[in-house]
Amino acid sequence: MMIVMREDAAPEDVSAVIERVESMGARAHVIEGESQTVIGAVGDVELVRDLGLEMAPGVDHTTPISRPYKLASSQLTHGQRTVIDIAGRKIGGDHFATIAGPCTVESRDVLMDSAHAVKQAGAQLLRGGAYKPRTSPYSFQGLGQEGLKLLAEAKRETGMPIVTEVMDVRDLEAVCEVADVIQLGARNMQNYTLLTEIGRSGTPVLIKRGLSATIEELLMAAEYVLKEGNGDVMLCERGIRTFETAYRFTLDLMAVPVLKELTHLPILVDPSHAAGRRDLVASMSMAAAAAGADGLIVEVHPDPDQAICDGPQQLRADGFAEYLRQVERVAEVAGKLPAAVV
Ligand code: PEP
Ligand code: MN
Repeated sequence: MMIVMREDAAPEDVSAVIERVESMGARAHVIEGESQTVIGAVGDVELVRDLGLEMAPGVDHTTPISRPYKLASSQLTHGQRTVIDIAGRKIGGDHFATIAGPCTVESRDVLMDSAHAVKQAGAQLLRGGAYKPRTSPYSFQGLGQEGLKLLAEAKRETGMPIVTEVMDVRDLEAVCEVADVIQLGARNMQNYTLLTEIGRSGTPVLIKRGLSATIEELLMAAEYVLKEGNGDVMLCERGIRTFETAYRFTLDLMAVPVLKELTHLPILVDPSHAAGRRDLVASMSMAAAAAGADGLIVEVHPDPDQAICDGPQQLRADGFAEYLRQVERVAEVAGKLPAAVV
């Protein structure tokens, strides 16, 4: 249920509504709009309805949210888009943000070289996995704690915010110490315990679409985090599994405009894991920008032929600046400007 306050509602009116919603055991999520405050009440619909809040002082009207995801729904914000601020870099709305870096943190040199290259080229955030979800248990699993230390060092040296994956709730605290944005990988999109804990941590999160997850399932994953009071949620289309084998996954770019219709949350695209091939990454990145994506997460390595994992899909660091210029030109046509680099 959405409780839309009047433009002239007093702060006490807002607090009184919140108190009454919470007295029913429901949660109240407050969204401060430009002119109006909206309170999203999530819980037992009937109990909240029985409160008769449409008659309460300062309330303009109430509307039920028909979608199964309530807090993620664009119905909640009246079409207003959420803009997330990561250490001054804005993601969402009119901003186009690029997260770039190696697939995994493999050594200090590789990480620092990638970090300097992507920063120089104008990327806003640095990616790199310390914990890697690998199909084979015999493949490199990431440097773990040591990788987190290197990411912290890269942040100190370049000032770039860090995006890194958490796979296990036991590592969440350590990951949160370093991560400005937690990456929740495709394989964990329906790990509801982990989603809940990420919600409680309050750390911004990028949720990647599961390999065979529907758009609604992706939005329900976001709902798990939002429900815990963590509003800094971004979604990422990263390719889904189809019958096609000519490339690693099928990049579902229609998900971008559809998600933008259904949710107010920022939508990013990962062209690297979808393609599995470097030669497809630039065109798919431009296509993502043209489709209205709020940004990209893309793999970049100083020497991809020597990379420990995902070498064939990682962009070469020395060509990254030219790539990003092309993509940002398309983003501009779609009405977005590169998010400021602080
Ligand atoms: C990654 O981005 O490092 C990754 C493992 O991606 P995904 O979870 O989308 O496979
Ligand atoms: Mn990878």
